Formats: sequence, C-alpha cells, structure tokens
Amino acid sequence: MAELDLVLRAPRVITAAGEVARRIGVADGRIVAIEPLDSDLTAPEIVDLGTDEVLLPGLVDTHVHVNEPGRTEWEGFATATRAAAAGGVTTILDMPLNSIPPTVDVAALEIKRKAAEHQAWVDVGFWGGAVPGNLPELRGLHDAGVFGFKCFLLHSGVDEFPHLGMADLPDVLTEIRDFGSLLIVHAEDSDAIDHAPSAHGELYRDYLASRPRGAENVAIAGVIEAARWTGARVHVLHLSSSDALPMIRTARRDGVQITVETCPHYLLFTAEEVQDGQTQFKCCPPIREADNRELLWHGLQAGDVDSIVSDHSPCTPELKRFELGDFGVAWGGIASLQLGLSAVWTEARRRGATLADVVRWMAERPAAIAGLHRKGHIELGYHADLCVFAPEDAFLVDPSRLHHRHPVTPYAGRPLTGVVRGTWLHGRHIGDGAGPAGEPSGRLLRRGEA
Ligand code: ZN
Repeated sequence: MAELDLVLRAPRVITAAGEVARRIGVADGRIVAIEPLDSDLTAPEIVDLGTDEVLLPGLVDTHVHVNEPGRTEWEGFATATRAAAAGGVTTILDMPLNSIPPTVDVAALEIKRKAAEHQAWVDVGFWGGAVPGNLPELRGLHDAGVFGFKCFLLHSGVDEFPHLGMADLPDVLTEIRDFGSLLIVHAEDSDAIDHAPSAHGELYRDYLASRPRGAENVAIAGVIEAARWTGARVHVLHLSSSDALPMIRTARRDGVQITVETCPHYLLFTAEEVQDGQTQFKCCPPIREADNRELLWHGLQAGDVDSIVSDHSPCTPELKRFELGDFGVAWGGIASLQLGLSAVWTEARRRGATLADVVRWMAERPAAIAGLHRKGHIELGYHADLCVFAPEDAFLVDPSRLHHRHPVTPYAGRPLTGVVRGTWLHGRHIGDGAGPAGEPSGRLLRRGEA
C-alpha cells in the first residue's frame, strides 16, 4: 500500500455499511484504506476521535448563492466557504444568479471562476443558468464544466436573470438532454403568483397567501410533463409544498427522471411561529404550516425527497427592511450554510431518523444528483472530505459566531443539537467549529473531473 499521510481512528464512522468502528487511511487526499479499528494502520499524522464523535463524509451543498462578483456586499466566496467549512460542508455548488454577471454564458463562468480562485476554503463548482435567448450558450457552458442549468418559472428576484415560460421548457430540455445535462428548476408558477393576493405589509399570513402551495404544485406538474415528453433529467429545487409529493412519486413510478430537494428551514420552522414583521423568515417558496412540515419529513423518510441543501441566499441586513417589517419589500432568502447539519439533525433525531439518513440526504444524494462521483461517501477512492460531528452536544445559535458575511438569520437564539468539531478537505484539516485554519485550499470543480 502507498504511504499514508493521515489515519483517523474513529469508534463511529458512517459508511455504506452504516455506523461502524474503523481506521480510515488517507493518501494524496483520497481515502485509500478502511480497516477495523484495532488494525495497525498508521501514518505520520493520527487523529483519534472520541466515542461521542462520529466521522461523516463532508457535506455536499448543491444550492448556494455566493453572489460574487457583483453583489459581494451580500456574500462572497471567502465568507461563504469559511461558513461552509465551519458547518462541515466541504463542497458547494454556486447558483448562477445574484452575482453579476449571472452565469449564462462561458465568459460569465470564467469571471466567476476568477473571482473564486484562491479564496475558496472548500471545493466550489458552478451551475449555469437557462434564461430566455441563451439556448445556444448551454452546450458551451456544459463543456466548460457546469453541473447543470438553473431556470426560474417566475420573476427570479433580480432583473438580470429573467425567467423562462413553461412553454420554453421542452426546447431547453431537448437541448440539454442531448448532452446528458440536468435542468434544476425554481418551480413556482408565474400566473398563479400573479393571481394570488399581493405580498405587502407585516402579516406573515398575508405573505403566505401571496405564495400559495398551488403555485408550486402547478409548476411542478408542468415540469414533470415536460420531463416526460422529452426524457430529460429535471430536479425540483427547494420543495416547500408537500402537496406535490404524490405526483412526484407517481411520475417516478412512470419513469420520469425527476429528483427533489428541500431545505433545512422548511424542515425546522413553521408558519405558525413566524411573528409579524419577522422578515428574516422570508424565503421563496415560503415556510409553510406545521402539518406541511411533517409531510415533508414523511417524504424524506419515504425517499420521495432526495436531498436537503441550504438554499443559502444571503443579503445585506438593510435589504431585510426590519424597520418596516414588510414582507412585500424585504429580500427573500435565508442564510444557513454553517447551520444546516445541526438544524437537520435536531429535527431528524426527534423523528427517529439516524445520522446515516442525514448523510444520505446531505452528502450522498446531492453528490449523486450533481454527478460528483468522488464525493459524499466515506469509501475507498473517494476524496478525503470529512467532518467530525458530536451528535449529542447542543448549542444556542449565536449570530456573532457565524462566518457568513452577515449574521442575519432566523436561527438566532435557536437551541440546536449536534456540533461540528472538525472538517477535512482532501485529507487536510481546514478548521473546527470555531472557524477555518490555515490557508484556503478549495478547488474549483468541473463536471466530470470531480
Ligand atoms: Zn436559491
């Protein structure tokens, strides 16, 4: 066997075999040995985990809005990836919008890669964008390494990233099907939102009425049919409406290639608890009622929802318009990159789910959906991206300890269970829960290479 650089001796590791006791050997940034805990596997660097700690694969968060360049005052590569490292997330995929220019052609992708270079604490890949008129750019973006294409079916929130109409989907899907890519969709229907009561004022129930479940349901139904007609792969972003789960299940049974993600905030918060004027809870689609939250958990446990990713979508505190508390004008988005694992584990364990389930939802499935074939598992040949997690520890969320550019978060003051104690990227220790250590060593990923 090649010389090892690092051995982790872990009484508890989440592998394909479930939770086991193992020594994990790392060489050149890869996992090259998985041996019994009492084996003599050794290396110049040894890390001993406690019995209260579990070794997990580093999380893969495929839904992050970094916003750099162009809106770096909202968030940036340095701050977002520091927060990721502190939260046990070792790979992020950056969304094509809110940065300027949006990632809708190869030139814009190169600008983004340049911005990310030398300041990424974790690995960073990029989604492209599908907008009206850029069909001829998609193949080039694919060849340049984007992991797929994001589109909206209603106003995206920023004018420089216009949305597609439902009628545009077949052409886009046919195009990307031919080179084996994936369309990831913000599925709320423009007409349904236009006909809903408008969002204004500080009452959360009015905001909720302005983004009804029906708008999601109609859009997802349309996406399913377009995927059925074309045979292309589609992915539903940030599912909030549990009403859509039965049709997603039947579409899959029919062979439609559809996957679905949801987010920590839909699995933890409820509409009932949001006080009027608390725009830190505003996101799109919205946080819905408690019964909806339980059905999303059922969907996860049944396998109808594949993955849990942050939809980390920060802005400056001013844009949350706390002085007005008006849900109509506040920016819609929640920053949670650093907190996702603890937030999900807090709710998951309460419902009898295991850490192996959480790893499936937050590492294995997102990696598989994006085509990151060397990430998301503790397995021979995989990248040595690792997270040490203490599942019985608890903490209160203190915004001053967040590495996000802005500490605005609906999680402030929340008691959460499970603490990230250490993170490794390609076999290199990049920090603990307090923050990153050393120098940024994240790589910029291209589809097919990672
Ligand atoms: Zn998003």
